[in-house]
Amino acid sequence: MLTLGRPNKFALFSLNRDFGHHAVCQSVTVPARLPSSAQQSTPDKFKNHSKQFIEAAIKSNSMSVKKKIDINGEHNYAISGKNIIVRSDRQKMSAQDLSELAEKAKAVLNETEKGINIVEIEDTEKLQPKYEVKTLRQAFADSKDEEETFRMSRARALATWNARTKYCCQCGTELTDAEELTAKVCKTCNRSIFPQIEPCMIVLVNKGDKILLARHAQRNTVFYSCLAGFIEAGESAEHAVAREIEEEVGIKVKNIKYRGSQSWPFPDQLMLAFTAEYESGEIKKQEDEIADAQWFDRSDLPTTPNPGSIAYKLIHQEI
Ligand SMILES: [Zn+2]
Repeated sequence: MLTLGRPNKFALFSLNRDFGHHAVCQSVTVPARLPSSAQQSTPDKFKNHSKQFIEAAIKSNSMSVKKKIDINGEHNYAISGKNIIVRSDRQKMSAQDLSELAEKAKAVLNETEKGINIVEIEDTEKLQPKYEVKTLRQAFADSKDEEETFRMSRARALATWNARTKYCCQCGTELTDAEELTAKVCKTCNRSIFPQIEPCMIVLVNKGDKILLARHAQRNTVFYSCLAGFIEAGESAEHAVAREIEEEVGIKVKNIKYRGSQSWPFPDQLMLAFTAEYESGEIKKQEDEIADAQWFDRSDLPTTPNPGSIAYKLIHQEI
């Protein structure tokens, strides 16, 4: 580990090392957010400093780019927010492609055990024509390979986690990369911080031949989907299913059955999918959450989520 400058100089560089079979997640990053003790620059000044550090890290250190982008890494992903950058000719992104893109990257990570290289890019406006930007949701829908979907999802999840996880939430110490695990370490508390997952549940409620679909009041307002929500501390997934349905549409359900799961890295959800049967009650919307909720006949469905989501699979009986 090589740390340049004092912690409040905003730079952390990792040298790539071979840890054999161990998973190693390493990064070149600049903190997006500083602890209050380190906020000495104005936001603009900080931004400029950040940029110089990224350029210095990637361009002036002759080892950096080659070392950061594992040239043996088979799986190369360039992530930009909720989008993924792909090659226009539909060929797989190579380590060389990623090395080119790394020059504009906000962060570069690799996980040697899984052969995954990741660069995170903020500005995709001046990409060469050989690349194009695609939404990750569309990439999931287009992917015919479960392993590929997993890796894309992991690339996005790790990029987000890396960007958001800079300081120990217990003591505020700047975190360093763990040597043998995909984790960060607080050397003051001596604890490891792993990529976080937020468990959520999504449920399709059946009533005879009809299914319950709802249109959300604030997000994804163009389509009707299954009810979904976060699992709260202390709850089982099944408890969350029953609670969420009762809260959002005022009905009780029975026969809650697990159907499958999907990583949904927007930013860090694991969706656990269920079906349930209507038991009692009339639809009564929770106004701030639900714009409309109705029982629909499967032969006459409204606009529903796109393929690639577990909601689509539940609604169209693919799981
Ligand atoms: Zn700590």
